[in-house]
Amino acid sequence: MARARIFPRRSARALTPTGGYLAGFTHSLQPYVGCQFSCRYCYVRELTVQRANPYRLPWSLWISPKLDVAERLRREAARGRTREARIFCSSATDPYVPLERRLGLTRGCLEVLAAHPPALLVVQTRSPFIVRDAALLARMPTAIASLSITTDDDGVRRLLEPNAPGISLRIETLARLRAAGVRTQAAVSPLLPCDPERLARRLEPVADRVVVDDFFRGDGAGGRRSRAALDQLRAAGFASWAEPGYADAAIAAFRRIFGAERVGVSAAGFDTTSAGSCPSSG
Ligand code: SF4
Repeated sequence: MARARIFPRRSARALTPTGGYLAGFTHSLQPYVGCQFSCRYCYVRELTVQRANPYRLPWSLWISPKLDVAERLRREAARGRTREARIFCSSATDPYVPLERRLGLTRGCLEVLAAHPPALLVVQTRSPFIVRDAALLARMPTAIASLSITTDDDGVRRLLEPNAPGISLRIETLARLRAAGVRTQAAVSPLLPCDPERLARRLEPVADRVVVDDFFRGDGAGGRRSRAALDQLRAAGFASWAEPGYADAAIAAFRRIFGAERVGVSAAGFDTTSAGSCPSSG
């Protein structure tokens, strides 16, 4: 992994009102701006946060930790702002980027939230390091640990998520979280080339629920923001996984193996109050 340059910052606020894709949530919580994982399909690199980044560095080669985020959150919680909040952490970074080991910003936020529990907290990551915070998450009955597990094929993972931890590690992480009493979700988002039946069978014992999404439903632009990743899939011989509707058979397989009530699809699937979902990811 190329070393990202670090640009510490202070934050105007911790909880940011949200909507759009995250319709089931009231706020996002982003302890970092930028991300060290560099997934090839990451649509955030197409958004202002990257296009207008003042550091003029490519996505994943810069990261800006919000050093005061936990203190900001503490002040907002003291004013009662967490009580009704439905929080997604995080939509434009990963709360367990490697820098989190050193800075503990996400942990600081979880300590605040454990003392001031929100209506819902989904912690979305692809890092096994989330296990460090299992005890904190287990203290919050409304918290869900959601692991991004997009394929069961580490060759595909290396192609499109070259800096992210291996698939087995992530599945094992779900098992460890569940054993610690944390509600778990697998976010198969976006679905990448895989054996869907085999992936569903590996996830079913460790995930309370699963959300499946694809490039066309999930990037907020009908697949346009994912054009580079779709081209890369076609060039690697996965053309049938780069067409609208490619996820339909996999969704059917997940429903068969999990039961339809434990499977969410796309944005509505991340909303744990919607039909077809049961709070156990994102
Ligand atoms: S972990 Fe998420 S935010 Fe980070 S590069 Fe991957 S898709 Fe983008």
